[in-house]
Amino acid sequence: RDPEVKKPAWLRQRAAQGEKYARLRESIGELKLNTVCVEAQCPNIGECWNGGGGAGGEGDGIATATIMVLGDTCTRGCRFCAVKTSNKPPPPDPLEPLNTALAVASWGVDYVVLTSVDRDDLPDGGSSHFAQTVRALKELKPGILVECLTSDFRGDLEAVSSLANSGLDVYAHNIETVRSLQRIVRDPRAGYDQSLAVLKHAKDCREGMITKSSIMLGLGEADEEVKQAMMDLRAIGVDILTLGQYLQPTERHLTVREYVTPEKFQFWKEYGESVGFRYVASGPLVRSSYRAGELFVQNLVR
Ligand code: SF4
Ligand code: SF4
Repeated sequence: RDPEVKKPAWLRQRAAQGEKYARLRESIGELKLNTVCVEAQCPNIGECWNGGGGAGGEGDGIATATIMVLGDTCTRGCRFCAVKTSNKPPPPDPLEPLNTALAVASWGVDYVVLTSVDRDDLPDGGSSHFAQTVRALKELKPGILVECLTSDFRGDLEAVSSLANSGLDVYAHNIETVRSLQRIVRDPRAGYDQSLAVLKHAKDCREGMITKSSIMLGLGEADEEVKQAMMDLRAIGVDILTLGQYLQPTERHLTVREYVTPEKFQFWKEYGESVGFRYVASGPLVRSSYRAGELFVQNLVR
């Protein structure tokens, strides 16, 4: 860690409270659900699980949680990510789509983000497994909103179509960083143009498809590059953008080059909305799924 770049006060985590949070927390153990929110000790859990209103208060009801499918072992090794990696992860559990859907449907969240590790070992990258989970969930709980935060499926557009046509509400795929830093930050099998092609294809799969992407700041990107990335995403119709601070998970990962101030994040939110995103969630602790359900309903439904 670069001793010159000290962690500022605005990154301090707040303890989660709130009634809805407490209820969800209580039932999660019985359902044996693995959420990214808990596993990754996400600082936003109070806000997301309460449906907004701050870490300790009730929001207007749309609680969001993120669930990981396809196991906990990734075939890639991005230099910002702490997920464990292997060339040959265990095969996916064929019962996972139904079991995940049953658990999520009975749990009490209104908006769920399904995400996964990258599975380059599977012929379709795990797309059909993902799609089965969405279908089962929509059948069991038709009113739930489902966002899928996917890998790039190595640019396999058929895999993208099969998931995009599964009945999901939001197709999310992260470009992670600006063009010039892709090779430093992401696994070499990922890439800027490949990610844009995935998002463009997903958008074209269905009339009215909502697409979403995310960029981490603090990796050494220039402002002009962030603006260019926003323009590139808007050019292919991406609707929603999230921006958050990159935090180094361990000593072995990329160091933080800059702690971007809350004011600068606010600037990026306004800038992003001025170039046409339907909404931008931007802040030091914002993650791709931050208050996703609440913001979706506020900005795209009402
Ligand atoms: Fe969960 Fe995502 Fe919210 Fe974090 S930001 S608490 S992972 S839904
Ligand atoms: Fe982490 Fe995703 Fe990269 Fe895998 S592909 S190492 S899960 S960021």
